[in-house]
Amino acid sequence: NLSEKLDKALHVLKGHGQITEINVAETLKEVRRALLDADVNFKIAKSFTNRVKEKALGENVLTTLQPGQLMVKIVKDELTELMGGDAAGVNLSGNPSVILMSGLQGSGKTTFSGKLANYLKNKKTKKPLLVACDVYRPAAINQLHVVGEQIGVEVYSEEGNQDPVAIAKNAVAHAKKNGCNVVIVDTAGRLAVDEQMMTEIANIHKAISPEETLFVVDSMTGQDAVNTAKAFNDVLNFDGVILTKLDGDTRGGAAISIKSVVDKPIKFIGTGEKMEAIDVFYPSRMADRILGMGDVVSLVERAQEQFDEEEARKLQKKIAKNQFGFDDFLNQIQQVKKMGNIKDLMGMIPGASKALKGMDVDDDAFKGIEAIIYSMTPDERSNPTVLNASRKKRIAKGSGTSIQEVNQLLKQFNQMSKMMKMMQGGGGRKMMQMMNR
Ligand code: GDP
Ligand code: MG
Repeated sequence: NLSEKLDKALHVLKGHGQITEINVAETLKEVRRALLDADVNFKIAKSFTNRVKEKALGENVLTTLQPGQLMVKIVKDELTELMGGDAAGVNLSGNPSVILMSGLQGSGKTTFSGKLANYLKNKKTKKPLLVACDVYRPAAINQLHVVGEQIGVEVYSEEGNQDPVAIAKNAVAHAKKNGCNVVIVDTAGRLAVDEQMMTEIANIHKAISPEETLFVVDSMTGQDAVNTAKAFNDVLNFDGVILTKLDGDTRGGAAISIKSVVDKPIKFIGTGEKMEAIDVFYPSRMADRILGMGDVVSLVERAQEQFDEEEARKLQKKIAKNQFGFDDFLNQIQQVKKMGNIKDLMGMIPGASKALKGMDVDDDAFKGIEAIIYSMTPDERSNPTVLNASRKKRIAKGSGTSIQEVNQLLKQFNQMSKMMKMMQGGGGRKMMQMMNR
């Protein structure tokens, strides 16, 4: 993928070693190739490397103490600039603020509508309303209702009404009457740009004059994403871009090209199928991610959002009193799972994306563990010391695992409890000793 290639291209320069002009030129050629491979538009890639070269020469890269690091910094800054500089928020000034989703079928509009509603709802001051304007497939309306139920947000739809413009207008009136201050309008898309779809979305746009018109695009579609963005922007003059499916093995090319082609900011990214897999788009963090340095800040933010502070405090007390049990362990696992796909999360840790390559890490990793814990009695969960051989045998049978797996889990659990106890008691030194052993 792009980050690995850029990583490799910059590798020579990253150390403190001697750098020659030939070296720089070679590296930039590699950078350009990496960008092209990631579906970045040819012209953009070329002007990008030209700017980097100019800057590098301007700052006398070759004579500084750590030329490699300076080069990496220049590349990162340029990438950041290319993707939009600062993060752009959504305009929520209206009452209600109307947000219109546009994009092709399958780009992730319905999923993102739910994610955004959930994201805003969690901000406490917002009461969103989801609107189903994809009237062509009954399944589409149903899909939005399922999403709404999942996140506890009202969904407005009209059975039998085939006119999305009327539905959108009625929905805004409904929101006003019911105190909803954000209206998120999900629309129908087609598999490719066509006139009927464009006319329809333009009509909805005209009828409800949204504060925000967002263009949702699948980042896996590469250069096509850029062409689609252009077509929609010509008709809607949208306010921002949502890049979905930026999880897994996605190439980052679209993020780099879109901003320069339509000159509209990328506002959010989707990083998974779950409702929590939404992140504000920060160009500089994306540049870090592309460069393979990992998106640690996003990771920490997501963790902070998901971990209930109250829960954390309760847990701390339990650990201090030596009452940490399997129920708490299960709870921890569920907290981690709530944060999204394990692979996505680990991919944000610097260096981890390399280590993960070819490895099969997913939520299933926890399935065995959960099954074992569910097969324990409440008493066994809170007091694992009672687990003797016959109980272990029963648990293995009940959970469809083996005694070895049960033992393995117990061992991990004991180690974890011990470690947490040490961390609590300020026994950092003791822990270091243990880890060294
Ligand atoms: P729509 O036709 O534009 O409404 O697209 P949907 O919201 O129905 O999404 C199409 C498919 O893409 C569904 O299977 C979603 O679960 C999936 N999807 C949407 N966003 C993401 C994302 O950020 N990451 C991943 N991996 N899948 C996504
Ligand atoms: Mg849809």
